Amino acid sequence: MKKIALVFALAVFVPSLLLAWLAVRSLRDQQLVLERQQSLLYQEVADSLARAAEDYLSQQQHEFGQLVEKLLAKQNPDEIAVSFDDRLRTNWPSADVGFVVTQKGSLVCPSPYSRPATKLFCADNAKFLCNIESVEVYWNGNQSLNSSPGNNLALNSPPTTGKGLVDSGNQGGGQGGNLKISGSRGQQYRSVMPQQQQMQIQMPNAAENPNYSKVASSEAEFRELVGDSREGSVARFLENKLCLLLWYRSPADESKIFGAQLSLPELKAGLTPILQKLDPTFRDDIAVALLDEAARPVAVSTNNLQANWKHPFVATEIGEELPHWEMAAYLLDPTKLARSAQTLRFMLGSLIGLLLLAIAFGGWLIVVDLRRQLIAARQKTDFVSNVSHELKTPLTSIRMFSELLAEGRVSEPAKRQSYLNIITVETSRLTRLINNVLDFSRMERGEKQYNFKPCDLVAVVRETLETYRPHLESSGFRVDSHLPDISIQVNGDRDALAQVVVNLLSNAEKYSGDHKEVLVEVERRDEPLPHVEVRVQDRGLGVPRGCEEKIFEQFYRAHDSLASGIQGSGLGLTLGRQIARAHGGEIIYRPRDGGGSCFSLRLPIASRVEKSAP
Ligand code: ADP
Repeated sequence: MKKIALVFALAVFVPSLLLAWLAVRSLRDQQLVLERQQSLLYQEVADSLARAAEDYLSQQQHEFGQLVEKLLAKQNPDEIAVSFDDRLRTNWPSADVGFVVTQKGSLVCPSPYSRPATKLFCADNAKFLCNIESVEVYWNGNQSLNSSPGNNLALNSPPTTGKGLVDSGNQGGGQGGNLKISGSRGQQYRSVMPQQQQMQIQMPNAAENPNYSKVASSEAEFRELVGDSREGSVARFLENKLCLLLWYRSPADESKIFGAQLSLPELKAGLTPILQKLDPTFRDDIAVALLDEAARPVAVSTNNLQANWKHPFVATEIGEELPHWEMAAYLLDPTKLARSAQTLRFMLGSLIGLLLLAIAFGGWLIVVDLRRQLIAARQKTDFVSNVSHELKTPLTSIRMFSELLAEGRVSEPAKRQSYLNIITVETSRLTRLINNVLDFSRMERGEKQYNFKPCDLVAVVRETLETYRPHLESSGFRVDSHLPDISIQVNGDRDALAQVVVNLLSNAEKYSGDHKEVLVEVERRDEPLPHVEVRVQDRGLGVPRGCEEKIFEQFYRAHDSLASGIQGSGLGLTLGRQIARAHGGEIIYRPRDGGGSCFSLRLPIASRVEKSAP
C-alpha cells in the first residue's frame, strides 16, 4: 500500500503539482504575453501604414521625374534650366522651390533675387548643392545610372557614421571606395514596442536595442549623394524644420541635376488620407497618428484623440525621406488590455484549480479503491485459512472417533452412542460449512436458485430449533423460545430460510462465551408493513462498536479467529443477508438489552394466517 502510494505520488501527484506551479507562474506573465501579441499585431498595422507613406513619397519622386522629362521634351534643357523654378511650381503644386545644379557644381536655378523663398533657399542650400560644404543629411537614392557595380563613380570617402542606404564597396570605411546606392529599403524602420520601451531603460545601446532609431544622418556633399544615381531624395533639418529635396537626372542631359524642395503643407495634406486606410476592424481598439520629428501629430485617424503622443503603444519610422517621422498606434482604451489579461488569468487559474481538484479527487478514489482491494485480498487469505481450519477440526474428531469405534475398543454402549453423536454433529457442522461455501460461490456467480413456495415460517423456525436444540443443550446452553401458535406464511425457500436460522443459532453458540443462553422469538408485526420477525438472541460477546454493518460483508470477521480462537469463515451473515434480501426482507443486528446480540430476520408476510400445526 505504502509502495503504491509512493508510486502514485511520484508518477502523478508530484508532476501535477509541478505543472500546476509552472502554470500558475505563467499566469503572472499573462499581461505581458497579451501585450506582446497585441503589439505584434498593431506593429504590423503601423508597418503597413508606414509603407503606404513611403509609397506616397516614391510616387512624388516618380511624378517629379516625369514632369522634368515632360518639360525637357518641349524645350532645350538650358532654357528649361534657367526658368525651372517658375515652370515647376506652375505645373506641380507639391514643390516650394525648383532648382538645377550642374554636374560641375554650379547652381543654374533659382536666382536668389527672384523671390523671398528662393533667397532663403539659396542661403540655406547653395553651398551644399554646389559642393562647397558638406552638411548633415538624411538621404536616399534608388536608381543607378550604370547598373554594373564596377562602373560606379569614384567619389570621396562615403560617410561612415550613416546607417542609411549607403553600402560601401570597400568596408574599410574612410579608405575611399565606390559609393553605391542600395535599391531596396529592407527593414530600415525603427519599431517601437511596449516591452522594448521598458527594455530601453536598461539597454541604451543602439546596436542591441531594436527600439533605437535606425534612420541616421551623415555628413556629405551633394555630389557624393547624387553619385551615379538617376534620382533620389535628401532630407535636412534647418533650424529644426524639415527640408525635403528631390532630385532627378535626365538621360537627355546628364550634366544637369533637376531638383525640387517639397512644400511641407502639401506633403502633410498628401499623407493625411493614408491614415484612413486603417483596417475598420482595428478602429474600436486603436487610433493611428502620423508624427513629425518632434512627435507632434501631423494627422490622426480618430478625431479629437487626446494621447501622450511621445509614448505610442507601437510605432514605425517612415524612413530617410521623412527622418524621425513615425506612424504611431495608440490604444483607445489602455485598461482593456489589463482587463483581458485579468479575465484570462482568472479563467486559466480556475482551470488549473479544477484540474488539481480532479487529480486530487482521482488520487483519493484510487487510494480508497486500493484500500478496499487490499482489505478484500487480506480477507480472502484469512478466509482460506479459516475454512481450512474449520474443515480440519471436525474431520479430526470424525476420524478419531470413527477409528475408535472401528477398532472395537469402545465396549460401553453409552460411550459408543456419545461418539456416534459427536460424529453426527461434526458431520453436520462440515455439511453446513460446505453448504455455506458452495452457496456463496453460487451467489457470486449469480447461479443461486430459490424454490419459492408459500411456507409457514413459524414451522421452519420450530423445526430448525428443535434439530439444533440437543446440540446446544449438550454444550451447556439454556435454550428458550417464544413462538406463536399460529402459522405465519411467507413466500420462501424453506431450505434457504432454515439455513439462515441455523447460521444464526450457530453464531449464537460460537460467540456466547460463558453466558450460554439462547432465546429464539418469532413475532408478527404490522408496522410499517405487515411482516414477520425472527429474533435469535444471546448473552455473549456482542458485536464490537463500528462493526455492526461490516459483519455482513463477505469474509469479514469481527472476532478474529486467531485471536479469539473461534472458528468461522466470515460467510454466514453474508449469506443470511443475501437470502433475506432475495425474499424481499432484511437481516439486521442490534445489541441486546442487558448484553449480548440480537439478530433479526424480517420477511414480508405472504398471505392468510392459519392455526399452526401443533
Ligand atoms: P463467522 O463464520 O465468522 O461466524 P459470520 O458471517 O457468521 O461469519 O459472522 C461474521 C462475524 O460477525 C463473526 O466473525 C463475528 O465476529 C460476528 N458475529 C456473528 N454473530 C455474532 C454473535 N451472535 N455475537 C457476536 N458476534 C457475532
